[in-house]
Amino acid sequence: MTRHTCLWWETAPEPKSYAGKPLPPKADVVVVGGGFTGTSAALQLAKGGARVTLLEAKSIGREASSRNGGQALSCLHNTLTETVRRYGRELGREMFRAAMEAADTVERIIETEQIDCDFVRSGSIEAAAKSAHF
Ligand SMILES: Cc1cc2nc3c(=O)[nH]c(=O)nc-3n(C[C@H](O)[C@H](O)[C@H](O)COP(=O)(O)OP(=O)(O)OC[C@H]3O[C@@H](n4cnc5c(N)ncnc54)[C@H](O)[C@@H]3O)c2cc1C
Repeated sequence: MTRHTCLWWETAPEPKSYAGKPLPPKADVVVVGGGFTGTSAALQLAKGGARVTLLEAKSIGREASSRNGGQALSCLHNTLTETVRRYGRELGREMFRAAMEAADTVERIIETEQIDCDFVRSGSIEAAAKSAHF
């Protein structure tokens, strides 16, 4: 029988549910969406002293953040050459640098928050399937 589900949903514990809880009457910042982006933003803001309310329509991490391949790659959608051509040398370089730092940020959050997720720094390869790719 074919099952259509996610490895993470099958193997990770269900996130704590706050459904039905009354909302705090005041907040400095309201973050909408409890995926990687929203939870990271909310965490950083709260660490900076802000009273943060995080609103999530389903459950924490239920959408793309728990359906992905789990690979923290340092890359942009486009190649460096294409990025520089489209956005110029300066911005292209900045974008690439930010992408390179992304995996470091993931690792830092995992360490700081002691998230038990079997994070491994294993490197990656960019393969050329034909000479044009090379
Ligand atoms: C199949 C797949 C494989 C992937 N593989 C990888 C990978 O290997 N490596 C990688 O780096 N990236 C991968 N990605 C991309 C990565 O998962 C996403 O970039 C990342 O999870 C996006 O996080 P997010 O918080 O922005 O969005 P989401 O995780 O989608 O979170 C958005 C949240 O907002 C909530 N929401 C939306 N509207 C509202 C509203 N009006 N009110 C309240 N809540 C709302 C949603 O319910 C959801 O929980 C993959 C994505 C997919 C789909």
